[in-house]
Amino acid sequence: MSRKLIIQKYGGSSVANVERIQNVAKRVAGYKKNSHNLVVVVSALGDTTDELIELASKINTEPSEREMDMLLSTGEQISVALLAMALHKLGIEAISFTGAQVGIVTDSSHTRARIIKINADRIRDELKKGRVVIVAGFQGVTLTQDITTLGRGGSDLTAVALAKELKADECEIYTDVEGIYTTDPRIEPKAKKIDAITYDEMLEMASLGAQVMQARSIEVAKKFDVPIHVRSSFSPNCGTMIIKEVKRMEDVVVSGVTLNKNEAKITICNVPDRPGIAAKLFKGLSSSGINVDMIVQNVSHLRSTDISFTVSKAEFPKALRITRKAAKAIGAGDVLDDQDIARVSVVGVGMKTHSGVAAKMFDALAKDKINIEMISTSDISISCIIQKKFAEAAVKTLHSKFGLAK
Ligand code: ASP
Ligand code: MG
Repeated sequence: MSRKLIIQKYGGSSVANVERIQNVAKRVAGYKKNSHNLVVVVSALGDTTDELIELASKINTEPSEREMDMLLSTGEQISVALLAMALHKLGIEAISFTGAQVGIVTDSSHTRARIIKINADRIRDELKKGRVVIVAGFQGVTLTQDITTLGRGGSDLTAVALAKELKADECEIYTDVEGIYTTDPRIEPKAKKIDAITYDEMLEMASLGAQVMQARSIEVAKKFDVPIHVRSSFSPNCGTMIIKEVKRMEDVVVSGVTLNKNEAKITICNVPDRPGIAAKLFKGLSSSGINVDMIVQNVSHLRSTDISFTVSKAEFPKALRITRKAAKAIGAGDVLDDQDIARVSVVGVGMKTHSGVAAKMFDALAKDKINIEMISTSDISISCIIQKKFAEAAVKTLHSKFGLAK
């Protein structure tokens, strides 16, 4: 067997407790015995990151982002040390590093930093010595030595970026499910594992709510054409390959159905219908780094309109505050909010060449008496905002309507 360089990333659930860390160590040891070179990226144990965020919020509801990064980066530091110890116990030479130690240099946008470059010499040196290199996921360091994090789920990005930098032969993302499914199997037990999916579909699914991989990491994988294998750390089975192009036997129009309950809707009533008003409204949000998602402007009758948009729940309090201020400044009416919404989406590259997907989707929802509040489309997806209480029912209906069920 030829010697390969393999990057493996283990998510929080794969290292949630002592047994699972030992399980990962055994898996890594198995690869090492086949004389492969290994770089292992690890996330924080279980829900550590959420717990740290919760802890911070008890001290300060709007903590400094720099200090947040200082705090959250500790989660991954625990995992890498424990995994190294578990490997030592199995007689495997291994060494753990923080993001800063392996030269993952980022910009200074704390909590969502972008990787500028990776000075991977230290990793190369350690690999040459025959060691398994364990890297703390999700973190980097600025040119001025401040610790940064790469956005939630950022260990995926660490793994993909290292795969690119080191020209790895394989990049495996280990999680607690067997791969990417046609929808969340916890909602629809008839969901099927997908053998291969394109970067574009995965990107769309990730940004629309499929939580298996961080969207940014797939963007980077696509940009540098890094094939990714998403698989389970609890089974030997192959998972899902994420690649540039998938040759499908049959005409698959929709590849998956996603659900996102992490958004909230803000509506500004009676916005004066003049050029430049929308620009004013959204400038405040964007300059505060808030990502506005779906935007709908109602038809204006009396020279005023209602504008609705969605933001992530995490950014919602800040977005609401900024919107209220902006609404006042431009002489608009009330600002309403709705946190009980959900976004259901259908995704598939097949949509580029097939028509009628939207009609089919709306029809399925209508048959279940589910009201559509907002609609948005992309090249390869259609999303509807609906009331949260219908979310699961909508997913099941669409999953069966598009023929995805087992
Ligand atoms: N521990 C971080 C998070 O939960 C990073 C990761 O899991 O990839 O977001
Ligand atoms: Mg995590």
